Parts: sequence; structure tokens; C-alpha cells
Amino acid sequence: MKRADVVLGLIVLAACAVWLGARALLRQNGAYVVIRQNGELFGSYELNEDREIDIGSGNHLSIRDGCARMTAADCPDRICMDQGKISVRGAVITCLPNRVTVQITGAGAADDKGLDAIVY
Ligand SMILES: [Zn+2]
Repeated sequence: MKRADVVLGLIVLAACAVWLGARALLRQNGAYVVIRQNGELFGSYELNEDREIDIGSGNHLSIRDGCARMTAADCPDRICMDQGKISVRGAVITCLPNRVTVQITGAGAADDKGLDAIVY
């Protein structure tokens, strides 16, 4: 291997490291999962703490590995379950039939401005 090849390899590696670092910073993982039911605060939970939550009788949310996911729902369309895992600040899972929203926020519920409005 020529010296120029090694230098080029190092440059490519450095570029990858910078790109990955920037991506991690921009992603801004949230810190809390804020659950609302009928527009009222149901609860707020740390995203980095694995937990299983029954939201009323109709929905079940799993918080695992820094992601929140609706794992069970009795709504007819199951769109909330199709929304998959959320972990980035501002991301929302909505279950319209059961009037449940799950939002990732950067701080606890006290500091949470919540969603502006939800039209059911
Ligand atoms: Zn649903």
C-alpha cells in the first residue's frame, strides 16, 4: 500500500466520523415520553427507562431501548401501532379513536408545552 493510499483512507475515516457525530447531534434524542388522553396529561416517563404502560383500557405502550412504541390497541384501524417506534424529540404517536397521544419531549411534563391542538 502506498503512503497516499493510507492518507486517503484516513481522510475517508475522518469524514465518516464527522458525519456520524453530526448526525447524532442533529438527531436530538428526547428525554421523556408524555402521554395524553382526552387532551389531559396521563403521565410522563423517562425514555431511557424500560417500562410497560397501560393507557386506559384500550392502549398499551412499551418503552424499551430508548424508543416508545404502541404494542397493543383496541382501536379498529390500529394506525397507532403502525406508527412504529419513536425516539426523536417532537415525534408523536396518535390513536385517534381512543384519543391518546404519545409525544417525545426534551423535558418532563412540567416543561412540556404539548401539542397546539388535536382535531379528532
Ligand atoms: Zn389506535
